[in-house]
Amino acid sequence: MDSEITKQLRDINRQVNELSRSLQVSICECAACARSDTDMIFHPRWKAWYCPDYYDASIKYKPPPHESEFDDN
Ligand SMILES: [Zn+2]
Repeated sequence: MDSEITKQLRDINRQVNELSRSLQVSICECAACARSDTDMIFHPRWKAWYCPDYYDASIKYKPPPHESEFDDN
C-alpha cells in the first residue's frame, strides 16, 4: 500500500516537472523572467519565447544565463 502511494507520488512529481518544463519553453511564459501577462516574441537564435522587454534587452546586451538549456544537441 505504502509503496503504491510512493509510486503514484513519483509519477505525479514527474508529470509536474514535465508540465513545468513545457510551460517554461512555451509561448505562454517568458523564458527569461517567467512573465505571462503579455504577448511573447520568438527568439530564433535561442529558440525560445520572451516578453517584449526582455527580448529588446537581450538584443542590446547579452544572452540569458540559461541559454544552454535551449541548445539543440
Ligand atoms: Zn520576460
